Amino acid sequence: MILLDGKKVRDEIAQTLRARIFAYAVKPKLAIVQIGDTQESATYIKQKKLFGESIGVLVEHVHLQETVSEQEVLAAIGKLNRDASVHGIIVQLPISDTLDKDAIIEAIAPQKDVDGLGSVNIKLLWENKAGGYIPATTRGILSLLAYYGISVAGKRVVIVGRSFLVGKPTALALLNADATVTVAHSKTVNCSEVTRSADILIIAAGKPHFIQKDDVREGQIVIDVGITAVTGEKLNDEVAEVTITGDVHFDDVKDIVGAISPVPGGVGPMTVASLFQNLVSAYERQNS
Ligand code: NAP
Repeated sequence: MILLDGKKVRDEIAQTLRARIFAYAVKPKLAIVQIGDTQESATYIKQKKLFGESIGVLVEHVHLQETVSEQEVLAAIGKLNRDASVHGIIVQLPISDTLDKDAIIEAIAPQKDVDGLGSVNIKLLWENKAGGYIPATTRGILSLLAYYGISVAGKRVVIVGRSFLVGKPTALALLNADATVTVAHSKTVNCSEVTRSADILIIAAGKPHFIQKDDVREGQIVIDVGITAVTGEKLNDEVAEVTITGDVHFDDVKDIVGAISPVPGGVGPMTVASLFQNLVSAYERQNS
């Protein structure tokens, strides 16, 4: 079994980006808009800041209160759009249901939309045209497969999950790369049969240990996108142990499959690195 080591690939991407950024007189800048105060968002933002700073990128953290109005969010994004020192803008998701997520993402200028979630970039992906930004998790999955020499052209790829953030863009990108793509979801009948039919199985369901030994077959490539914080035993009166768990039961399938990305240490680090690859592309396009 080959371990698809996202940390190792992330570190190599970091090295390449660092060398490129070192040569720039003006540093690329990413603005991260956070709305509210969830622990989850704070953790993801911290990871992005650390990675960005480690490669010489400037990271501006725009932290808005949970009670902020949509107009105020749109105004903050408008300001970042007009700021020539900012090359990429992302809104840390999820955000409160009281805000119109689509309108907020749509407000980001397409050339600064380095999460690739606005309609201009999604349409470019839909039409398989160059010049846009592929959402970071999708780009990370493609890069991880490419790094390990796993070609997708002509392969049967099954993606479990059809979210706008992961499942759908990943399906489109793999279709563009000539894979034969099936997307399974919560209404899929006989999901196990579908997952076993894959050459490459990508799981983004957000269900810890959803994929077990009966759901995979010999030699499959398995990419586990899931990240769920599972609260376990109490370590003392106040603190309970929290484990990050993937959608695949790693120990159950590891002796069956041909390759697997672990959680943590697989797609997560690739997502962060891919976001900054998008940022550096945005910077270069804005300065060319
Ligand atoms: P999401 O919006 O909740 O979507 C989950 C998808 O899984 C839905 O399409 C849902 O189907 C499907 N699903 C749920 N239960 C299922 C079941 N029993 N059988 C088959 N399909 C099922 O989640 P998301 O944003 O795509 O994220 C998915 C997971 O990836 C989460 O754990 C998230 O934390 C993680 N994630 C990781 C990264 C990373 O960098 N590694 C990045 C983003 C997200 P329906 O559409 O029918 O409801």
